[in-house]
Amino acid sequence: MGYREEFRVDWSLIWKAAIALGGLSLLFGVLLAFAGDKFKVQTDPRLDELLAAVLGANCGACGYPGCEAACNAVLAGDANVDVCVAGGGNAVTSVARVMGVETRQRKRGVALVHCKGGLGESVPKARYQGTSSCAAAELVAGGGKACRYGCLGLETCRMVCPVNAILFDEDHRRWVNRDRCTGCGLCVDVCPRGLIQVVPRDQEVLAVCNSRDKGAKAKRVCSVCCVACKKCVKACDFDAIYVEANRAWINYEKCTQCGRCIETCPNDVLVRVVPSRRMERMQKGV
Ligand code: SF4
Ligand code: SF4
Repeated sequence: MGYREEFRVDWSLIWKAAIALGGLSLLFGVLLAFAGDKFKVQTDPRLDELLAAVLGANCGACGYPGCEAACNAVLAGDANVDVCVAGGGNAVTSVARVMGVETRQRKRGVALVHCKGGLGESVPKARYQGTSSCAAAELVAGGGKACRYGCLGLETCRMVCPVNAILFDEDHRRWVNRDRCTGCGLCVDVCPRGLIQVVPRDQEVLAVCNSRDKGAKAKRVCSVCCVACKKCVKACDFDAIYVEANRAWINYEKCTQCGRCIETCPNDVLVRVVPSRRMERMQKGV
């Protein structure tokens, strides 16, 4: 009997506790609702539209820490409607439409990798078996290819490209899909060999070697290298090519894209690239 009385439930105490807790919850709820309303951060309703208009990759090519920061800068008038470099022309047009202003297209460039030596052209000197990072390969005795200036052929630039414009083949030859590339330049900074440059999009005659070795030495390690013979310099009527530190370079301001230099280069270092859409039109004869 005594045992049962010791554990008797006091319902009045439970009710009091429930009422007290319920009251407190209600009070805090009202307080939170009031505070939420009072301190609500007003967001511009156009922010969502802007976020849908930009590329949305949070790549940082615009110089802001992410897409939302870039869009807020546009709304605050701190950035232009062409803020999303990686999004290309479509992003500019869409952002301008949301903001109700005229499109201001920046003249966009296109990335160029200054090397065309795949494993077939640039003699391998070792078998690199580390991670697929050019920076890591560079640290391990300069990667697997014999040319110490050329492309290491791994993944570093491809990984950062927000529009998947850098393509590789199994011969470690890489190229930029000019139709996809928006010229954002993210790949430029990550290349440990400084091989990538954003060049004018309408420039089709390009010098594609970065070797600074002297002729015979350069040729020993790559069959498509510049040997600094200066034949292109002599062929150019417009003083648009110069050879500096043993490699040919083009002055895009002066180049008329006549292509005479291409015919004279003994090692195919100078090339004319044609954007694939135009190539398709040419093939169809339109
Ligand atoms: S980051 Fe530079 S070295 Fe590496 S694959 Fe790209 S172009 Fe070549
Ligand atoms: S290839 Fe380079 S410049 Fe072109 S979109 Fe990709 S990261 Fe940007």
